[in-house]
Amino acid sequence: FFTDDLNTRMHARLTLETNLHHALDNNEFMLYYQPQVEVSTGQISGMEALLRWQRSDGSIIQPLEFIPALEDSGLIVSVGEWVLETACREARILSDKFGRPLTMSVNISARQFNRSDIVEHIAFILKETGLPPGSLRLELTESLLMVDSEATIEKLHKLKELGVYLSIDDFGTGYSSLSYLKRLPINELKIDRAFVMNVSLNRNDAVIVNTIITMAKCLDLHVVAEGVETEDQRKFLASRQCPTFQGYLFSKPLPIDQFTTLLTKKTEESQ
Ligand code: C2E
Ligand code: MG
Ligand code: MG
Repeated sequence: FFTDDLNTRMHARLTLETNLHHALDNNEFMLYYQPQVEVSTGQISGMEALLRWQRSDGSIIQPLEFIPALEDSGLIVSVGEWVLETACREARILSDKFGRPLTMSVNISARQFNRSDIVEHIAFILKETGLPPGSLRLELTESLLMVDSEATIEKLHKLKELGVYLSIDDFGTGYSSLSYLKRLPINELKIDRAFVMNVSLNRNDAVIVNTIITMAKCLDLHVVAEGVETEDQRKFLASRQCPTFQGYLFSKPLPIDQFTTLLTKKTEESQ
C-alpha cells in the first residue's frame, strides 16, 4: 500500500518535472506584478515579480505548486535567470514610461543564489537592461542567510557594492537570528503575511509587527508589510509609520498590461 502510494507520487513528480522542462522551452512561464504602495500617500513605489505558469490549455498554475519541483530538478537556475532578466527589462520600460524610478523586487531561491557566478550574472543583466542597480531588490529567505558560509557573505557584500538592495522575505517565520541583521548588508525586511493578517485581532501579532517596524527603523532598514487585505490593517500600519505595504487591499498580482493600466490610473489620480 505504502509502496504504491510512493510510486504514484514519484511518478507524478517526474511527470511534473518533464512538463516544467517543456514549459521553459515553450515560453509558458510568465510574470505577474504586485504593486508595493506607500502607506501614507497610496502611491505605487514599485512592484514584486511573481512567477506563473500558463499551461497550453490557458490554465494558470500558482508558484507554490511547481517551485519546489523547479528547485529539486535544478531548473530554477534557468527559470530564475529568465525571471531576473524579464523583471529588470519591464522595470526599466515602466520607469521610462512613467518618468520616475520604480523598484522591482525579485524572489531568489537558495539554489539560484548558490550558483558561483550569481553576482556577475546580476551585473550583466543590469547592464544589458539599463536598470539602475538601486531599483533592483533581491528577496532572499532567512534560511538562505542562515547558511553563514564565507561564499554567501562575500556574495552579499559584492551585491551591495553593485548597488543592489537586499531584502529578507517572510521575515519572522524562519529560524530568525537577529545577529545577521547586524553582520550582513541587508536593506529591507518584509513582514510576513501571517503576522499582518491578525494585527487588528490578535494582540501578540500586533506587538510582533510593531516591534519589527521599530527595530527596522532603528537599524535603518526599509520595511514592507505583506498581505494587507483590510483597511483596518492599513490603518494599523499607518499609525506605526510603516512606510510600504503590499496586498490585495490595493491590488492582487497582475499581468504586465493590467499592471501598466493600474499604474496609469493611479498616476492620473494623483495629479
Ligand atoms: P512571496 O515572495 O512571499 O510572495 C508573496 C505572496 O503572497 C504571493 O503569492 C502573493 O500573491 C501573495 N499575496 C500578496 N498579497 C496578498 C494578500 O493580501 N492576501 C493573500 N492571501 N496573499 C497575498 P504567490 O504569487 O502565490 O507566490 C508564492 C511564493 O512563491 C512567493 O512568496 C515566493 O516565495 C515564491 N515565488 C514566486 N515567484 C517566484 C520566483 O520568480 N522565484 C522564486 N524563487 N520564488 C518565487
Ligand atoms: Mg517575495
Ligand atoms: Mg513573502
